[in-house]
Amino acid sequence: MSFEDYHGIWVFIEVKDGEVVPVSLELLGAGKELADKRGTELAGVLIGENVTQLADSLFEYGADTVYVYDYAIFKDYRTESYMKALLECCQKYKPEVILYGATSTGKDLASAVATDLPTGLTADSTILDIEEDTGLLLASRPAFGGNIMATILCKKYRPQMATVRPKVMKALTPEPGRTGKLVEETASLKEEDIRTKVLEIVRHTTQKVKIDEADIIVAGGKGLGSPNGFQLVHQLAETLGGAVGGSRDVVEAGWIEHHHQVGQTGVTVTPKIYFAIGISGAIQHIVGMQNSGLIIAINNDPEAPIFQSSHYGIVGDAFEIVPLLIEQFKQAFN
Ligand code: FAD
Repeated sequence: MSFEDYHGIWVFIEVKDGEVVPVSLELLGAGKELADKRGTELAGVLIGENVTQLADSLFEYGADTVYVYDYAIFKDYRTESYMKALLECCQKYKPEVILYGATSTGKDLASAVATDLPTGLTADSTILDIEEDTGLLLASRPAFGGNIMATILCKKYRPQMATVRPKVMKALTPEPGRTGKLVEETASLKEEDIRTKVLEIVRHTTQKVKIDEADIIVAGGKGLGSPNGFQLVHQLAETLGGAVGGSRDVVEAGWIEHHHQVGQTGVTVTPKIYFAIGISGAIQHIVGMQNSGLIIAINNDPEAPIFQSSHYGIVGDAFEIVPLLIEQFKQAFN
């Protein structure tokens, strides 16, 4: 393998319900910086059915080239079909870097591609950089329970790959009318080659406001004592039209489902307002919400670490304070 043969920074473009998911646009922003440093091109790989028209917006968000696999066989995400398309594309054009969103699809696809190529993969990166001269990708992520940042290198294989957390990188401001090179690829794959069949897609319907898109998040922790006490969090969220979040401990206790978990092993969120109620403020929680616009903590322990990361802190019993807040907000909105 000669590294000289590998050129270009690629982003796997994830499509959901006919639209490009935000993290893919964020990765085009991050990828553009890497591509400029290396003096190489930025490309997107778009796989799906009826997706070709999405390429226009990818050019506006910074892609120079878009490789498209637009076939019925790619209608629903399946590891085998998407992996084979991406592997083919990779073997044909030899990119030096491929970035994926650290979504369930991105993580699944990246690990399958890494195994088959084979190459290395850094999961859940939060910082990306590249050495201009060697082209070595520097993918950093929290390690050892969030106590250190580890920078992981892939020195012996190409392409170098990383999944990147949503909402960590910034998308570029789109440049209307910017165009690029559209490369329509031929899929060699047939339906009978794929073992997995999608029979039905069952969506979560319990979450009223999506946590990763919410402007207001009301998150609760073990300090609420019980599933019953945690209802206060739901009530405040409903009053404010916000989403409900939780610490890992309440998820593990079964008070709320995992997709509400904020933090290192949950989602990273950046709402305008984040309420942390009965949450101690462990580093693994903080890394998932520290970039929120305004953080308001309610905790009965004045020494709780959450106050170090909050803009406003209320020291007191959540069971006294939260009902008062609900009442006041209800009055204000009426
Ligand atoms: P606690 O730490 O028990 O805190 C409860 C808080 O409530 C205390 O500060 C207490 O003073 C306060 N309190 C008690 N009663 C009241 C009351 N009546 N009114 C007001 N306040 C009250 N955690 C996450 O959240 N997200 C993650 O993604 C995550 N990932 C992890 C990954 C790893 C590898 C590890 C090792 C840990 C991870 N954790 C994560 C766990 C994390 O370390 C903490 O254990 C967890 O965040 C603590 O949850 P908590 O704040 O709800 O509970």
